[in-house]
Amino acid sequence: MRVAGLSFVLFGCAAYAAWTTLERSVETITAFAYGLTFLWVGWRLAGKRNQYRLLGLILVARGVFNLANGMDLVPTAFEVWFIWSFVIKASSMLCLIHAVQEKIQKRYTRAIDSLSKGFLVYDRNGRIRSANESCARLLGAPGVKQLLGTRIVDWLPSVGRRGVAAHFQRFADAARYPHVETVVVDVGGRALPLELIASPHYERGQLHCMMLVMDITERKNNDDLLQRAANFDSVTGLLNRHGLSGRLAAALAQARAEGSGCAVLFVDIDKFKRVNDSFGHGAGDQLLIQMAQLLRGMARDGDLLARFGGDEFIVVLQDLPLADVAAAATARGQQILRALNNGFQLSPQLITVSASIGVACYPGDGGDADALTRNADIAMHDVKKSGRGELRFFDPAMSAYARDALVIDGALRGAIQAGELSLVYQPIVDAASGGMDKAEALLRWHSASLGAIGPDRFIPVAEDSGLIIELGAWVLDEACRQLAGWRDSLPQLVVSINVSARQLLDPAFIGLVERALSANGLAPGRLELELTERVLISDGAQVRDALGRLRALGVSLSLDDFGTGYSSLSYLTQFQINTLKIDRAFVTDMVDSPRSNALVATIIAMGKSLGLQLVAEGVETAGQARALEAMGCHYLQGYHISRPVGAAALPLFARRDGAATVTAAAPAVLL
Ligand code: C2E
Ligand code: CA
Ligand code: CA
Repeated sequence: MRVAGLSFVLFGCAAYAAWTTLERSVETITAFAYGLTFLWVGWRLAGKRNQYRLLGLILVARGVFNLANGMDLVPTAFEVWFIWSFVIKASSMLCLIHAVQEKIQKRYTRAIDSLSKGFLVYDRNGRIRSANESCARLLGAPGVKQLLGTRIVDWLPSVGRRGVAAHFQRFADAARYPHVETVVVDVGGRALPLELIASPHYERGQLHCMMLVMDITERKNNDDLLQRAANFDSVTGLLNRHGLSGRLAAALAQARAEGSGCAVLFVDIDKFKRVNDSFGHGAGDQLLIQMAQLLRGMARDGDLLARFGGDEFIVVLQDLPLADVAAAATARGQQILRALNNGFQLSPQLITVSASIGVACYPGDGGDADALTRNADIAMHDVKKSGRGELRFFDPAMSAYARDALVIDGALRGAIQAGELSLVYQPIVDAASGGMDKAEALLRWHSASLGAIGPDRFIPVAEDSGLIIELGAWVLDEACRQLAGWRDSLPQLVVSINVSARQLLDPAFIGLVERALSANGLAPGRLELELTERVLISDGAQVRDALGRLRALGVSLSLDDFGTGYSSLSYLTQFQINTLKIDRAFVTDMVDSPRSNALVATIIAMGKSLGLQLVAEGVETAGQARALEAMGCHYLQGYHISRPVGAAALPLFARRDGAATVTAAAPAVLL
């Protein structure tokens, strides 16, 4: 009916227009054409049940006005004509703008509502301007409506007014990277860990803060799993080396504050290897478990117990009066040695073992965890050298390491000028295709006076003395120079270099990176920096800033030795890491230990869900390579693929048929 009615009106109007056409001016015809068009469009829009209805009605009015004008029915008084025309035109334009804006807003709201992550926008006063359903759910609000117009601090008290001001200050300072922080909110009596990522956002020309809100419960749970694996020994349940170092550092800080003493006992089971060889690894593990029980049985409140390595245990006695430290250590050491005389029942045999114990006391034998454990270790080795089954206190004269470090430090100072340093490169291959996409640069030192010294010996010394800054700058320059030299043979290769905490905290570091890249005409994406978790926790804000600037520059960041340190997945997003390198220890144990296997699988799955590239280090067998590839690991690095090779051999490796070719083709350059 409506269509017929409309057709009738349109037909009538068209007939009238045709009839008058001959005598009418062009203006009249235009008025008719406009009128009919507006009438038709308005009629269609008015039938819709949305924001276009009002626009439709106004267009109908405008069409009628134009037709009436064409038929000379509009009053001729200019004022009346002007007002009609102006009011109708202006209101139809406003309605159109409003309708389009509403449509865009709706689309935008639908898009953010469909995001599984929480999302909100707030203004300079901290008032929430828009949000999505997920955000309301995460913040414990009944719905989006209840969030709008309220202040962000009402929902995220830990962000605080200062936090809001700080976000805007950062944006005003033109910080190009988003600010990430973790907060815990109480939602329905449940502590919910959230990650907030704040970035600048402009709305109608005004600066706002756009915040992504993510529930990181799953990541935290995985963190806990990794923390346990990283800090506790799986066989005995005691602390492991990393777990101990953090707790011992805390114990020493407390001792320093209270003026008390500590003793570190380094206990090494004598000839443990023989137990393993004669009775098997199962029996060896049993012995370690019983040893741990024995140490636990003697422990006082506050003692720290750790399995430091294979058959090495550490007992830390803390909170001792300074005058009693030596006596307490002697008493506990003797108690351990006596207990060992009773032997261990490793069914069906009873096995008796002895132990060598070295002791270092705080404050006399060292001020930090590393120095004390190292000195207790030195004392233990001193016992081993002169027979076994005894307890001995550390004496500075025993300190081979200290001497070693002094000699190394002295010789290293002239190493760069003397041209004693070189870089070798270890291929990192795509697990699926086998193509070499990356290589890790590793430093080598052939000292004229001391011979070849491994980085495990000289890097810690250089880190202690600060010389690492100079060495690191040399590595950076040399790696970039070499990369430019491979312009034709390896045009896509990415080279990763190891960066120590002191280098990263050096204010000149970013400038050095920029210069090394530009001087060699390299795109920043060709360089990757490998950092350890120790670096990341060393100075949160300063490190975050340095890493943010490096990322803004376009350099990739890789987290080295993952799984051995603090192993927090939260670092990964906070510090904008691109690549995760799963530590060799996990890869080595994968095939024998279901636990390591499960951990590697978890790290890979979590890493992938965070959009990271995964590299497995220390791949020594085809079995490990297959298992890692099946788990979805992206890259492999290790002796199975290739040992580190000299710069000349790397292009040969890239052209190889298989990893074995380079070993055969260039044995002289394998290092
Ligand atoms: P990293 O960064 O974890 O480097 C990997 C180490 O594992 C290298 O030892 C490499 O030769 C070794 N490796 C690679 N594949 C395998 C494998 O399949 N099995 C075994 N058993 N080992 C494998 P390297 O070259 O002795 O370096 C030792 C450490 O010294 C490095 O560990 C790194 O932390 C440090 N380092 C080396 N070069 C530099 C450098 O230029 N700067 C800094 N700051 N540290 C460096
Ligand atoms: Ca590395
Ligand atoms: Ca590593």
